[in-house]
This record gives sequence, C-alpha cells and structure tokens, in this order.
Amino acid sequence: MYDPTRPVGPKIIAIANQKGGVGKTTTAINFASALAEIGQKVLVVDLDPQGNASTGLGLMPDDRNATTYDLLLDDFPLSDIICKTGQDNLFLVPSTTDLSSADIELIANEKRSYLLHDALRQTDMDQFGFDFILIDCPPSLNLLTVNAMVAAHSVLVPLQSEFFALEGLSQLMLTIREVRQSANPALRIEGVVLTMYDARNNLSQQVETDARDNLGDLVFKTVIPRNVRVSEAPSYAMPVLEYDTNSKGALAYRALAREFLGKNETMTAA
Ligand code: ADP
Ligand code: MG
Repeated sequence: MYDPTRPVGPKIIAIANQKGGVGKTTTAINFASALAEIGQKVLVVDLDPQGNASTGLGLMPDDRNATTYDLLLDDFPLSDIICKTGQDNLFLVPSTTDLSSADIELIANEKRSYLLHDALRQTDMDQFGFDFILIDCPPSLNLLTVNAMVAAHSVLVPLQSEFFALEGLSQLMLTIREVRQSANPALRIEGVVLTMYDARNNLSQQVETDARDNLGDLVFKTVIPRNVRVSEAPSYAMPVLEYDTNSKGALAYRALAREFLGKNETMTAA
C-alpha cells in the first residue's frame, strides 16, 4: 500500500542519460557497490529491459523470478521482488526483456508516470531500511525514464568523455525540467560524473574542461578512468570493487561514493 503521509525513506537517485554506452549501468553497479562497502544499505532497480545491471550484479536471467515489470505493473509485495546480491548491503530488483513491452503498456495506465514512484513508497519498503535506491535507466527518454525521474529525489548523469558528450545533455535537461513542472517539482540534479576518462587523451581533457565550464559544481571532482578491469567485471557477475578491489576503476568508484556522501552530509546539515 502506498501511504503519502509516511516519513521520507531512502534517497532515490535515477542514473540517466538517453545515450547508450555512456556508463549508466556500470555506474549503477559500482557506485552502489561502493556505497554498500562503506555500510550504506543500497537497492539497485534495473529499469532497463536489457537487464545488464541484473547480470552485472550476479543474477542470471533464469534466476529472475519477479522483476521490475512486476514492481510496476503487478501488485507484487517488495519482499517477493527484492533479491540479494553477492555483496552485503547490496540488493537488486532485476529486470528482463518483459520490461520492453511495459513502455507501451504503461501508456494506457492513468498513473503511468507514477507507477515506480508509488511502488518504491509502499509501506513495506520500511522493513528493509535502505539508505539509497539507485535506478539504472534505459538509454532513452521514454516513459520508463520518466517514471524514474518522477520517483527520484535526484538524477545522476554519467557523461562519457567522448566527442559530442555534451550534445545530448540539453535534451536530458529539458526532460528534467518538464518532470519538475509536472510531477516532481523537487527533482534535483545530483551531479554529472565523467566516465571512461583517459588522462592521456586530449579529447577527454577537452570534454572535462567543457563540462566544468558549462556545468560548474554539478560536475563531480572524481572522474572514472577508462579501465579494462571495469569492463571485465560484469562477465564475472560482480562489481569491479569485488572483482579487482585495488583496480583504478574500483578506487575511482570508492572516491565517487565518498565525494557524494560528503556533499549529501553538507546538504543535510545546511
Ligand atoms: P550504458 O548503461 O550507459 O549503456 P554501460 O555502463 O553498459 O553503459 O557501459 C558501456 C560499455 O562501456 C560497457 O561495455 C562497459 O563495460 C564499458 N565501460 C563502462 N565504463 C567503463 C570504464 N570506466 N572503463 C572501461 N570500460 C567501461
Ligand atoms: Mg545500461
């Protein structure tokens, strides 16, 4: 049951960028893993029908019984949907290709933009005591991504350190503005994180300079380097922090989690 009067639960963050291959899923998995490692209780909601976050967190397709689809469109209790992962404090709502039809099925639903919002605010969410919920969005600004933005307190934007990186951002910002005007006036931008950064590459440096000039403090100081261990980890079905704990990628995601928590503490104190 959704109870709008209950106290605020976990902070909900949508990880979004309508471009594919920019590091959304990688960031969802490893940022979540880094937060969990320092004792935060984290739920990753896989909102992409491709289910890469589910695989990357160790849940193979055959083991996905109840999924994000059921969370949105069936009345499944959360305890039937939330799965453990191989890491303490880190939990998952998995997705399967079923979710690809949800985008269309949602259209006819009166509450189409609020389904995830309401699902994550069910009263039985309290029993889990999550600190954070991270939503891995699909590479599109479709109704699923809108559901994530309506459900979320903030949006975290991975930005690939590549040519044209900033181009798609205006479209994303427009969608955020529309969601603020319609369903979720309090929606904030958590920040922009540069991914697949190669310090030896002029282009990476140029994208970083442009991003910091244009977006200022919204850009996290921590950048995520291009690191082969990061790209290998999903095929071993684990976050890079578990797969190769001292790799550059693991260290970067830990730094990102610390920077993020630092920022959030200052905000709560203010
Ligand atoms: P998205 O979810 O935005 O589509 P992914 O997180 O799936 O993007 O990343 C796209 C590809 O880039 C994947 O193959 C992933 O392993 C790889 N990748 C992401 N981040 C890094 C990184 N820091 N270093 C190396 N490869 C990366
Ligand atoms: Mg993805």
